[in-house]
Amino acid sequence: MRLLIMGAPGAGKGTQATALAERFGVPAISTGDIFRHNIKNQTPLGVKVKSILDAGEYVPDDVTEEIVADRLAQPDCEPGFLLDGFPRTMHQVHFLDRYLADRGEGLDAVVSLMVEPEALVRRLLARAEIEGRADDNEDTIRRRMEVYAGQTAPLLFHYENKGLLVDVDGTGSVDDVRARMFSQVEAHVAP
Ligand code: AMP
Repeated sequence: MRLLIMGAPGAGKGTQATALAERFGVPAISTGDIFRHNIKNQTPLGVKVKSILDAGEYVPDDVTEEIVADRLAQPDCEPGFLLDGFPRTMHQVHFLDRYLADRGEGLDAVVSLMVEPEALVRRLLARAEIEGRADDNEDTIRRRMEVYAGQTAPLLFHYENKGLLVDVDGTGSVDDVRARMFSQVEAHVAP
């Protein structure tokens, strides 16, 4: 099972990604988590990308794609994977399409979590209080929303055209969204 999950900042991507990956027995791979882990440990990669994450901008495609290629080559990705937060640009979409095609593989579904913009900002500001993420402040949140709308939201058309898109209403409790998402993804991938 090879899955993607996409959604605006605050849509609940991370939480639902973990549940979905567990449901299908595949690793959840979050590029954001990989970057944050490297920043925390002050690795060369972390030092390089810290200011980019702090500003709410995207890490360059070549850097991000190399990380994803390395991660997908790990043995635990053999039964499949769930990518959370990748791809985010058209360049990354083409990279992933090529990467999978070279291996005779393809995606099974692309989950899009949809939440109203006003609800997103409210959720992110609440998360800032709980998790203390450096990029959960109002200016950076606004910038991340803009970058998502400009660069990432249009990618949904690519997957829609390929018949892979599963649009999930991301409003309501975590449990409600998870149940909704499971049944929609299961219906989509059923033979
Ligand atoms: P996330 O945890 O998915 O919200 O990602 C946090 C931050 O990591 C983003 O705002 C970007 O700065 C960076 N990032 C994560 N994934 C990508 C990606 N696929 N391409 C570029 N930057 C990314």
